[in-house]
Amino acid sequence: MIAINQLTFSYRDETFRLRIPVLTLESGRSAVIVGPSGSGKTTFLNLIAGILPSSGGEIRVGHTDVHRLTDNDRRLFRLLNVGQVFQDFQLIDYLNVLDNVLLPCRIHPSVTVTKILRERASLLLQSLEMSSFERRSVTCLSQGERQRVAICRALLLSPQVVLADEPTGNLDPVNAERIVRLLRTETRRSGATLIMVTHDHSLLPQFDQIIPFEQFLERTAADKNDLQVAEGDT
Ligand code: ADP
Ligand code: MG
Repeated sequence: MIAINQLTFSYRDETFRLRIPVLTLESGRSAVIVGPSGSGKTTFLNLIAGILPSSGGEIRVGHTDVHRLTDNDRRLFRLLNVGQVFQDFQLIDYLNVLDNVLLPCRIHPSVTVTKILRERASLLLQSLEMSSFERRSVTCLSQGERQRVAICRALLLSPQVVLADEPTGNLDPVNAERIVRLLRTETRRSGATLIMVTHDHSLLPQFDQIIPFEQFLERTAADKNDLQVAEGDT
């Protein structure tokens, strides 16, 4: 489960401010985030993942108070608890498909390649019809195939949270729906919480919860001044 309470965040220049009073996402459920570009969707995923430290408030993932973790602990928390599918996939060109899926085992000494993990990687690839590609270089794959590798990697360590940032961005409708179904099935099966960002409104019915993100954008002092000037004009 993910529980957010009075979360605030701004980048150092303070031009953008996010404030989320209360938001709860249950385990085994799925949420989709929609909102205009620049409304903070990617920032929010990075806050949950522990990539960015919050400015204030609480983020609890399972039993972990993410907002209390040190930089080092956040890194380990992220590796063990969060699977991320990045918009640009972030595959490593010099590794083959199987080794890209096993990449989380190269990040921290507490997670190493075991026979069980290698078998899990193969099973995940098999479930996405990618078995015959295991030894192939990722540079030879189509976009859809690269995407499936990125999803297998995100699911490798059975994370309690799966975050997918516009994962269907450059896919045709049939493959987009297929990817969402896969993420839904895999996370429901493992009891993980899925959070996906998309601009594709045709995908929304597949999710348990829809989160319009514009509501969490705070006006900055500069915005308020602009507004006052505009109102004074009328
Ligand atoms: P979205 O994913 O909804 O398009 P982002 O979370 O990427 O939005 O960005 C939200 C706002 O924060 C934007 O105005 C963006 O320009 C700004 N922003 C993003 N990353 C940084 C950064 N590293 N430093 C300062 N501002 C940033
Ligand atoms: Mg974004």
